[in-house]
Amino acid sequence: MSDLPACPACQEEITYPDRENYVCATCGHEWPMDGSEVTEDSDAKVVRDAHGTPLADGDTVVLIKDLKVKGSSTVIKMGTRVTNIKIVDGDHDLDCRVDGMKIMLKSEFMKKA
Ligand SMILES: [Zn+2]
Repeated sequence: MSDLPACPACQEEITYPDRENYVCATCGHEWPMDGSEVTEDSDAKVVRDAHGTPLADGDTVVLIKDLKVKGSSTVIKMGTRVTNIKIVDGDHDLDCRVDGMKIMLKSEFMKKA
């Protein structure tokens, strides 16, 4: 019973079963045992930064370029640290807070801190 699957969110192998789900001890990601054929090759749900490092909820990332906030004149400067990101579905796949503003960012313009 020791071959539990690696976490699809952060690829760490310290996971444990919890009723119908597996839970990752590293990032807290939970996923159903039914989807146990999720492998490390399945990139579908893994959000990666500009260098291909998998990102997980709660991570801290740094902007690698200036980004204009859609619908405003605000520009978030390259090098800005964004803490406690949340992975979401969609074109802009990171839900974050910068200077108290809730914004959506693209993981391709981020690097894990
Ligand atoms: Zn994980």
